[in-house]
Amino acid sequence: MKAIEPVRLLGDPVLRRRSEPVTHVGRDVEAIIEDLTRTVDVAGGLGLAAPQIGVLKRVIVVVSIDNQGGRHHYPLINPEIISACGEEIREEGCLSIPGIYAEVKRPLSVVVRALDKAGKKVNMEASGVLARALAHEIDHLDGMLFIDRIGVVKRNLLRSKLNTIKKRAKEMASSRP
Ligand SMILES: [Zn+2]
Repeated sequence: MKAIEPVRLLGDPVLRRRSEPVTHVGRDVEAIIEDLTRTVDVAGGLGLAAPQIGVLKRVIVVVSIDNQGGRHHYPLINPEIISACGEEIREEGCLSIPGIYAEVKRPLSVVVRALDKAGKKVNMEASGVLARALAHEIDHLDGMLFIDRIGVVKRNLLRSKLNTIKKRAKEMASSRP
């Protein structure tokens, strides 16, 4: 089994690029989904997008947690929000910006159109935490991070912590083969 890639951190330019749509759902996409799923589980996150493991393809995995604590994975290819309803402000974090949390306004519910891992068209309806995870991960595919959606005052307060993460991203990049 391939070793788990460390999640790319804020400051890594790959997080600021736009990901390419998937044109063919084949073995390579399956491998991206496997990597995302293992990585998000090891990190204990609620979602991960391909750019966070250095792959500029429109592939995400979101996770819902049931009452028994079981993790259910939803891999989505070329996901798009086709409708959104309501809004909710809640604290949010990101595996690429560890230790930073801030309130972000997101839709209360969304309908996402995508392909599933078999390449079949699906519409996924979600609300609450799962809707938030979908919106957050889809943002990643356009090079957008949750700290872009918080107020400038809050971002200034976080500046020195964000700079520390950017320094780590540079160190990671220089140690990558
Ligand atoms: Zn994120």
